[in-house]
Amino acid sequence: MTDKYAVIGNPISHSKSPQIHTMFARQTGQDISYEAILAPLDGFAATVERLRKEGYKGCNVTVPFKFEAFKIASNYGFEVMDAVESGHEADAVNTLLFKDNKIGGYNTDGTGLVNDIEKNFKIPLKGKRILLIGAGGAAAGVLHPLLEASQSPLAIYNRTLEKAEGLIKKVTQHEKFRLVSIKPVEFGKLGSEQFDIVINATSAGLTDSELPLPATIFAPGALAYDMMYGRETPFMKFARANGAAIVSDGLGMLVEQAAESFFIWRGVRPDTAPVISALRKLQ
Ligand code: NDP
Repeated sequence: MTDKYAVIGNPISHSKSPQIHTMFARQTGQDISYEAILAPLDGFAATVERLRKEGYKGCNVTVPFKFEAFKIASNYGFEVMDAVESGHEADAVNTLLFKDNKIGGYNTDGTGLVNDIEKNFKIPLKGKRILLIGAGGAAAGVLHPLLEASQSPLAIYNRTLEKAEGLIKKVTQHEKFRLVSIKPVEFGKLGSEQFDIVINATSAGLTDSELPLPATIFAPGALAYDMMYGRETPFMKFARANGAAIVSDGLGMLVEQAAESFFIWRGVRPDTAPVISALRKLQ
């Protein structure tokens, strides 16, 4: 019997997840269906409940429901199946697994980003100086896996400084990150420090807004990575003009985070490379 999955969001029509999971299923011979579901802004929990009743096996969760999904997996009256592992760091989850009467919650965004950088770009994160721009849901989701992989100093640069400070406070509560230097940088005050990896986790690209970045920010050989995908953002243009060696959008991260979700649900790891290149051709 075909196992049903979905992605829930609002808006949702732009989502590439149905295409990605359909390609994964075809490639791995898994008998699944995957659809995009638009939930009313006040109707996420009811939508999850309906899917469970209708026998769906799990779902992805996107804007603006990732925080609510974390709460559902943690304490919405269902039993939490897993320790909400990486989701705990972000207080946000993008993957729910429905099994028996339980819900497992996971955040695969961080692993998706790390896999794209390390596996697809073949850039080991260990020891790299990283600048993370943004302190919203996406930044929160990737911070822990990034630090885990890099084990090196990281700076968080956000328009609202308090949000960067809040993220840092949270992550440094973890024993394993106590000795890693993570500092907030006030907007517009980056100075002459250089970074090996600069990640734009803001949504500034959505409005074609430029970020205040010094032209000297990219160390020799630097990677400039914008989590946004689908078009060249002002950040990507800036990086090309100011010496970043590699400039990427977030399409690879999108496919890699989907592959992690697929693995959680099906126990099978799809090959992401052909899916990324197929989506690139459609862009
Ligand atoms: P949030 O709304 O949670 O956070 C937005 C962030 O962007 C905040 O840090 C905000 O700063 C900052 N920001 C917004 N506009 C501007 C601006 N004009 N100038 C400077 N900073 C700005 O969004 P998310 O974190 O959920 O998403 C961020 C981006 O990441 C989106 O583009 C999303 O598409 C992308 N993303 C990509 C994924 C992928 O798989 N490739 C996965 C998840 C997200 P402030 O705190 O000051 O408001």
